[in-house]
Amino acid sequence: MERGIYVVATPIGNLGDITHRAVKVLSDADYIAAEDTRQTRKLLDHLGIDTKMIALHEHNEREKANYLVGLVADGACVALVSDAGTPLISDPGHHLVQCARANDAPLFTIPGPCAVIAALSISGIACGSFIFEGFLPSKSGARRLRFEGLSEESRTVVYYESPHRILETLALLAEIYPERLIAVARELTKTFETVLSGASSDVYARVADDPNQRKGEFVLVISGAQVEESQGSLSPDDKRLAKRISADLPPKKAAALTADLYGLNKKSVYEFLVKGV
Ligand code: SAM
Repeated sequence: MERGIYVVATPIGNLGDITHRAVKVLSDADYIAAEDTRQTRKLLDHLGIDTKMIALHEHNEREKANYLVGLVADGACVALVSDAGTPLISDPGHHLVQCARANDAPLFTIPGPCAVIAALSISGIACGSFIFEGFLPSKSGARRLRFEGLSEESRTVVYYESPHRILETLALLAEIYPERLIAVARELTKTFETVLSGASSDVYARVADDPNQRKGEFVLVISGAQVEESQGSLSPDDKRLAKRISADLPPKKAAALTADLYGLNKKSVYEFLVKGV
Protein backbone atom coordinates (compact mmCIF):
# COMPACT_ATOMS: atom_id res chain seq x y z
CA MET A 1 0.00 0.00 0.00
CA GLU A 2 1.23 3.49 -0.84
CA ARG A 3 2.11 5.65 2.19
CA GLY A 4 -0.58 8.21 3.08
CA ILE A 5 -3.74 9.01 4.99
CA TYR A 6 -6.71 6.84 3.97
CA VAL A 7 -10.13 8.29 4.90
CA VAL A 8 -12.23 5.15 5.31
CA ALA A 9 -16.05 5.05 5.52
CA THR A 10 -17.50 2.36 7.81
CA PRO A 11 -21.09 1.08 8.19
CA ILE A 12 -23.87 3.24 9.68
CA GLY A 13 -25.55 0.19 11.21
CA ASN A 14 -25.40 -2.95 9.10
CA LEU A 15 -21.85 -4.33 9.26
CA GLY A 16 -22.41 -6.00 5.89
CA ASP A 17 -22.05 -2.53 4.33
CA ILE A 18 -18.27 -2.41 4.81
CA THR A 19 -16.58 -2.34 1.40
CA HIS A 20 -13.86 -4.74 0.20
CA ARG A 21 -11.43 -1.83 -0.11
CA ALA A 22 -12.19 -0.66 3.43
CA VAL A 23 -11.43 -4.14 4.82
CA LYS A 24 -8.16 -4.30 2.89
CA VAL A 25 -7.02 -0.83 3.94
CA LEU A 26 -7.95 -1.36 7.60
CA SER A 27 -6.06 -4.63 7.70
CA ASP A 28 -2.98 -3.49 5.72
CA ALA A 29 -2.57 -0.03 7.34
CA ASP A 30 0.17 0.52 9.91
CA TYR A 31 -2.22 2.47 12.16
CA ILE A 32 -5.92 3.19 12.40
CA ALA A 33 -6.79 6.63 13.77
CA ALA A 34 -10.19 6.08 15.39
CA GLU A 35 -12.72 8.52 16.92
CA ASP A 36 -13.50 6.00 19.70
CA THR A 37 -11.16 3.02 19.85
CA ARG A 38 -13.68 0.91 21.81
CA GLN A 39 -16.31 1.42 19.13
CA THR A 40 -13.89 0.65 16.29
CA ARG A 41 -12.59 -2.39 18.19
CA LYS A 42 -16.07 -3.98 17.74
CA LEU A 43 -15.84 -3.52 13.96
CA LEU A 44 -12.25 -4.76 13.81
CA ASP A 45 -13.08 -7.84 15.91
CA HIS A 46 -15.98 -8.59 13.58
CA LEU A 47 -13.59 -8.36 10.62
CA GLY A 48 -10.73 -10.25 12.36
CA ILE A 49 -8.38 -7.25 12.06
CA ASP A 50 -5.80 -6.34 14.71
CA THR A 51 -4.14 -3.20 13.30
CA LYS A 52 -2.85 -0.86 16.02
CA MET A 53 -5.26 1.96 16.86
CA ILE A 54 -4.57 5.56 17.86
CA ALA A 55 -7.37 7.69 19.34
CA LEU A 56 -8.19 10.79 17.29
CA HIS A 57 -11.21 12.71 18.56
CA GLU A 58 -12.40 16.30 18.67
CA HIS A 59 -10.38 17.05 21.85
CA ASN A 60 -6.96 15.86 20.63
CA GLU A 61 -7.26 16.14 16.86
CA ARG A 62 -5.14 19.26 16.34
CA GLU A 63 -2.25 17.84 18.34
CA LYS A 64 -2.54 14.31 16.87
CA ALA A 65 -2.79 15.58 13.27
CA ASN A 66 0.87 16.69 13.19
CA TYR A 67 1.99 13.43 14.75
CA LEU A 68 0.06 11.30 12.22
CA VAL A 69 1.25 13.36 9.23
CA GLY A 70 4.78 12.89 10.61
CA LEU A 71 4.26 9.11 10.59
CA VAL A 72 3.18 9.33 6.94
CA ALA A 73 6.30 11.39 6.13
CA ASP A 74 8.31 8.47 7.55
CA GLY A 75 6.51 6.05 5.20
CA ALA A 76 3.44 4.95 7.20
CA CYS A 77 -0.10 4.20 6.02
CA VAL A 78 -2.71 5.65 8.39
CA ALA A 79 -6.41 4.79 8.05
CA LEU A 80 -8.86 7.32 9.54
CA VAL A 81 -12.27 6.08 10.72
CA SER A 82 -15.08 7.55 12.78
CA ASP A 83 -17.64 5.69 14.87
CA ALA A 84 -19.94 5.26 11.87
CA GLY A 85 -20.22 6.36 8.27
CA THR A 86 -17.89 8.77 6.51
CA PRO A 87 -15.29 10.55 8.67
CA LEU A 88 -15.47 14.40 8.66
CA ILE A 89 -19.23 14.35 7.95
CA SER A 90 -20.35 15.69 11.36
CA ASP A 91 -17.37 13.73 12.68
CA PRO A 92 -13.66 14.42 13.44
CA GLY A 93 -11.03 14.39 10.70
CA HIS A 94 -11.00 17.88 9.20
CA HIS A 95 -7.81 19.01 10.97
CA LEU A 96 -5.99 15.83 10.00
CA VAL A 97 -6.96 16.16 6.33
CA GLN A 98 -6.11 19.88 6.35
CA CYS A 99 -2.73 19.15 7.94
CA ALA A 100 -2.04 16.39 5.38
CA ARG A 101 -2.91 18.76 2.49
CA ALA A 102 -0.74 21.52 3.94
CA ASN A 103 2.22 19.11 4.20
CA ASP A 104 1.70 17.39 0.84
CA ALA A 105 1.02 14.07 2.51
CA PRO A 106 -0.83 11.73 0.12
CA LEU A 107 -4.58 11.43 0.85
CA PHE A 108 -6.91 8.70 -0.41
CA THR A 109 -10.66 8.27 -0.04
CA ILE A 110 -12.18 4.86 0.63
CA PRO A 111 -15.82 5.85 0.15
CA GLY A 112 -18.84 4.08 1.57
CA PRO A 113 -21.86 4.62 3.84
CA CYS A 114 -23.01 8.11 4.82
CA ALA A 115 -26.36 8.73 6.54
CA VAL A 116 -27.11 11.98 4.63
CA ILE A 117 -26.79 10.27 1.26
CA ALA A 118 -28.54 7.08 2.36
CA ALA A 119 -31.51 9.11 3.65
CA LEU A 120 -31.74 11.33 0.58
CA SER A 121 -31.65 8.36 -1.77
CA ILE A 122 -34.86 6.86 -0.37
CA SER A 123 -36.62 10.04 0.84
CA GLY A 124 -38.62 10.61 -2.34
CA ILE A 125 -37.57 14.28 -2.10
CA ALA A 126 -35.65 15.98 -4.94
CA CYS A 127 -31.91 15.21 -4.64
CA GLY A 128 -30.65 17.15 -7.67
CA SER A 129 -29.65 20.07 -5.49
CA PHE A 130 -29.45 19.90 -1.71
CA ILE A 131 -27.69 21.40 1.29
CA PHE A 132 -26.55 19.47 4.33
CA GLU A 133 -26.50 21.45 7.56
CA GLY A 134 -25.18 18.83 10.03
CA PHE A 135 -26.86 18.78 13.44
CA LEU A 136 -29.60 21.27 14.23
CA PRO A 137 -28.81 23.59 17.15
CA SER A 138 -29.85 22.17 20.52
CA LYS A 139 -31.58 25.41 21.69
CA SER A 140 -35.16 25.72 20.44
CA GLY A 141 -34.83 29.46 19.67
CA ALA A 142 -31.85 28.84 17.41
CA ARG A 143 -33.67 25.95 15.68
CA ARG A 144 -36.65 28.22 15.00
CA LEU A 145 -34.35 30.81 13.42
CA ARG A 146 -32.78 28.13 11.19
CA PHE A 147 -36.18 26.96 10.00
CA GLU A 148 -37.48 30.50 9.44
CA GLY A 149 -34.42 31.05 7.24
CA LEU A 150 -35.64 28.28 4.92
CA SER A 151 -38.70 30.17 3.67
CA GLU A 152 -36.96 31.05 0.38
CA GLU A 153 -34.53 28.13 0.13
CA SER A 154 -35.48 26.19 -3.00
CA ARG A 155 -32.97 23.39 -2.45
CA THR A 156 -33.69 20.29 -0.36
CA VAL A 157 -32.22 20.70 3.15
CA VAL A 158 -30.89 17.80 5.23
CA TYR A 159 -30.16 17.74 8.97
CA TYR A 160 -29.04 15.21 11.53
CA GLU A 161 -31.24 15.19 14.63
CA SER A 162 -31.06 13.44 18.00
CA PRO A 163 -33.82 11.20 19.41
CA HIS A 164 -34.24 13.59 22.39
CA ARG A 165 -35.30 16.46 20.16
CA ILE A 166 -36.92 14.86 17.14
CA LEU A 167 -40.51 15.37 18.34
CA GLU A 168 -39.92 18.99 19.34
CA THR A 169 -38.22 19.66 16.00
CA LEU A 170 -41.09 18.14 14.03
CA ALA A 171 -43.60 20.16 16.07
CA LEU A 172 -41.72 23.33 15.13
CA LEU A 173 -41.63 22.40 11.45
CA ALA A 174 -45.34 21.56 11.50
CA GLU A 175 -46.02 24.97 13.03
CA ILE A 176 -43.90 26.98 10.56
CA TYR A 177 -44.37 24.94 7.35
CA PRO A 178 -47.37 22.61 7.89
CA GLU A 179 -47.64 21.70 4.18
CA ARG A 180 -43.94 21.27 3.42
CA LEU A 181 -42.98 17.75 2.24
CA ILE A 182 -40.49 16.14 4.63
CA ALA A 183 -38.98 12.70 5.29
CA VAL A 184 -37.76 11.38 8.63
CA ALA A 185 -35.28 8.56 8.04
CA ARG A 186 -34.68 6.48 11.18
CA GLU A 187 -32.23 3.68 11.96
CA LEU A 188 -31.09 3.30 8.36
CA THR A 189 -29.68 -0.15 7.49
CA LYS A 190 -30.69 -1.44 10.95
CA THR A 191 -33.54 -3.69 12.15
CA PHE A 192 -35.99 -0.86 12.77
CA GLU A 193 -35.27 1.19 9.66
CA THR A 194 -38.26 3.42 8.90
CA VAL A 195 -38.84 6.39 6.62
CA LEU A 196 -41.92 8.50 7.38
CA SER A 197 -42.72 10.99 4.67
CA GLY A 198 -45.49 13.43 3.82
CA ALA A 199 -46.61 16.90 4.88
CA SER A 200 -44.69 17.95 8.00
CA SER A 201 -47.91 18.21 10.06
CA ASP A 202 -48.80 14.58 9.17
CA VAL A 203 -45.33 13.26 9.92
CA TYR A 204 -45.36 15.11 13.25
CA ALA A 205 -48.73 13.51 14.16
CA ARG A 206 -47.40 10.03 13.32
CA VAL A 207 -44.26 10.46 15.43
CA ALA A 208 -46.28 12.00 18.29
CA ASP A 209 -48.63 8.98 18.24
CA ASP A 210 -45.92 6.32 18.31
CA PRO A 211 -43.10 6.53 20.91
CA ASN A 212 -41.12 3.90 18.94
CA GLN A 213 -40.73 6.44 16.15
CA ARG A 214 -38.67 8.63 18.50
CA LYS A 215 -36.01 5.99 19.17
CA GLY A 216 -32.69 5.60 17.38
CA GLU A 217 -30.77 7.75 14.92
CA PHE A 218 -32.43 10.25 12.59
CA VAL A 219 -31.92 12.15 9.39
CA LEU A 220 -34.44 14.87 8.59
CA VAL A 221 -34.98 15.76 4.92
CA ILE A 222 -37.00 18.89 4.10
CA SER A 223 -38.08 19.72 0.57
CA GLY A 224 -37.19 23.12 -0.84
CA ALA A 225 -39.62 26.03 -0.83
CA GLN A 226 -41.94 26.08 -3.83
CA VAL A 227 -41.56 29.09 -6.10
CA GLU A 228 -44.82 30.58 -4.81
CA GLU A 229 -43.22 30.67 -1.35
CA SER A 230 -40.06 32.26 -2.74
CA GLN A 231 -41.88 34.83 -4.90
CA GLY A 232 -41.05 32.96 -8.10
CA SER A 233 -37.36 33.77 -7.93
CA LEU A 234 -34.72 31.50 -9.46
CA SER A 235 -31.21 31.92 -8.11
CA PRO A 236 -28.41 32.88 -10.53
CA ASP A 237 -27.18 29.26 -10.30
CA ASP A 238 -30.66 27.93 -11.18
CA LYS A 239 -30.78 30.25 -14.20
CA ARG A 240 -27.35 29.18 -15.37
CA LEU A 241 -28.29 25.51 -15.11
CA ALA A 242 -31.58 26.06 -16.94
CA LYS A 243 -29.78 27.93 -19.74
CA ARG A 244 -27.18 25.19 -20.07
CA ILE A 245 -29.81 22.44 -20.25
CA SER A 246 -31.93 24.43 -22.73
CA ALA A 247 -28.94 24.64 -25.08
CA ASP A 248 -29.58 20.98 -25.95
CA LEU A 249 -33.36 20.71 -25.50
CA PRO A 250 -36.56 22.60 -26.40
CA PRO A 251 -37.68 24.97 -23.56
CA LYS A 252 -40.55 22.78 -22.34
CA LYS A 253 -38.37 19.70 -21.99
CA ALA A 254 -35.46 21.73 -20.58
CA ALA A 255 -37.78 23.29 -17.97
CA ALA A 256 -39.19 19.89 -16.94
CA LEU A 257 -35.72 18.34 -16.68
CA THR A 258 -34.17 21.27 -14.79
CA ALA A 259 -37.13 21.43 -12.37
CA ASP A 260 -36.97 17.71 -11.75
CA LEU A 261 -33.21 17.52 -11.27
CA TYR A 262 -32.84 20.60 -9.09
CA GLY A 263 -36.17 20.66 -7.20
CA LEU A 264 -37.40 23.87 -8.92
CA ASN A 265 -40.80 25.02 -10.09
CA LYS A 266 -41.30 23.92 -13.72
CA LYS A 267 -43.46 26.92 -14.66
CA SER A 268 -40.90 29.44 -13.36
CA VAL A 269 -38.06 27.74 -15.21
CA TYR A 270 -40.14 27.65 -18.41
CA GLU A 271 -41.06 31.34 -18.09
CA PHE A 272 -37.44 32.25 -17.49
CA LEU A 273 -36.37 30.29 -20.59
CA VAL A 274 -38.98 31.76 -22.93
CA LYS A 275 -39.40 35.27 -21.49
CA GLY A 276 -36.08 35.71 -19.71
CA VAL A 277 -37.80 36.63 -16.40
N1 SAM B 1 -20.23 10.40 9.79
C1 SAM B 1 -21.59 9.91 9.86
C2 SAM B 1 -22.16 9.77 8.45
O1 SAM B 1 -21.40 9.59 7.50
O2 SAM B 1 -23.37 9.77 8.30
C3 SAM B 1 -22.45 10.78 10.74
C4 SAM B 1 -21.93 10.95 12.13
S1 SAM B 1 -22.94 11.94 13.16
C5 SAM B 1 -21.95 12.06 14.60
C6 SAM B 1 -24.16 10.81 13.70
C7 SAM B 1 -25.56 11.20 13.22
O3 SAM B 1 -25.75 10.73 11.89
C8 SAM B 1 -26.68 10.55 14.02
O4 SAM B 1 -26.97 11.29 15.19
C9 SAM B 1 -27.82 10.58 13.03
O5 SAM B 1 -28.39 11.88 12.97
C10 SAM B 1 -27.08 10.29 11.72
N2 SAM B 1 -27.03 8.83 11.50
C11 SAM B 1 -25.96 8.02 11.61
N3 SAM B 1 -26.31 6.74 11.35
C12 SAM B 1 -27.62 6.75 11.07
C13 SAM B 1 -28.56 5.75 10.72
N4 SAM B 1 -28.21 4.46 10.65
N5 SAM B 1 -29.84 6.11 10.49
C14 SAM B 1 -30.21 7.41 10.58
N6 SAM B 1 -29.37 8.40 10.90
C15 SAM B 1 -28.10 8.08 11.15
